[in-house]
Amino acid sequence: MKKILKKNGRTVLEGIRAKSLESRSGKAVLTLEDGSEYTADKALVAVGRTPNTAALGAEQAGCSLNPRGFINVDACLRAAANVYAIGDVNGMTLLAHAAEHQGAYVARCIVQQENIPYVPGPVPSCVYGSTEVMRVGRTAFEVAREGKTPFVSVALLSANAIAQSGGHTAGFVKAVWDGDNLVGMAAVGHGVSHLVTAAQLLIVGQYTQHGVFMFAHPTLDEALAAALLAPRKEYAG
Ligand SMILES: Cc1cc2nc3c(=O)[nH]c(=O)nc-3n(C[C@H](O)[C@H](O)[C@H](O)COP(=O)(O)OP(=O)(O)OC[C@H]3O[C@@H](n4cnc5c(N)ncnc54)[C@H](O)[C@@H]3O)c2cc1C
Repeated sequence: MKKILKKNGRTVLEGIRAKSLESRSGKAVLTLEDGSEYTADKALVAVGRTPNTAALGAEQAGCSLNPRGFINVDACLRAAANVYAIGDVNGMTLLAHAAEHQGAYVARCIVQQENIPYVPGPVPSCVYGSTEVMRVGRTAFEVAREGKTPFVSVALLSANAIAQSGGHTAGFVKAVWDGDNLVGMAAVGHGVSHLVTAAQLLIVGQYTQHGVFMFAHPTLDEALAAALLAPRKEYAG
């Protein structure tokens, strides 16, 4: 993503804290901790979210909050006797589809159609835009953090026919392996959010062998297959 942004003339600054953001003469002025200043017509601030639980009174219902203010839940998303906490408020995954998935699980628990702990499966997430990011399941970094040796295999969108015909060839699809198990997929590029559900199904079904799954040609989905079949390299961090 950084490479694509830079190629499009954007400046990307990392590893430095913002000191202040002020309005000066109708302009947005950002000052960084090293004193450097950046002026723009508009500023968009996206620095994360915090739970709004201080005045919720969850403790009065027998729930407890973790130090960050999220409601603690057990493996069945129970926060107290007869109280469940689903969605952003439990801090597990701050995404709308995760909240919905958890809510459906709890509804099944309440009507006694479910009696096993909550299993989210590989969680999909996307960043939308003119260049997109999709990710589902685990990253190589997460697998390595568990002391395992992940492998990654990568397909470039420049080799994909539909990306070529649309003239959007920057980006790639990556597959993450824990042994022979496909545990995650990720992609950066034009329209890659549309790959997220197919990637999720590939992980859930472990359809990793050549020819098990037939991909229509020409589609961006073929880049998923290409990533699965590409040489696997040990993740180097
Ligand atoms: C700018 C932005 C963009 C996002 N984009 C995406 C996206 O593209 N895809 C995605 O999956 N997710 C996205 N999210 C995250 C997504 O919005 C949340 O994960 C999702 O809304 C969580 O659902 P929820 O039901 O847990 O909480 P919420 O949707 O926050 O619902 C909680 C509700 O509880 C109400 N409430 C709070 N306190 C009380 C109280 N004391 N009494 C009664 N009611 C109360 C609130 O008013 C609110 O209606 C985005 C979030 C933001 C902020």
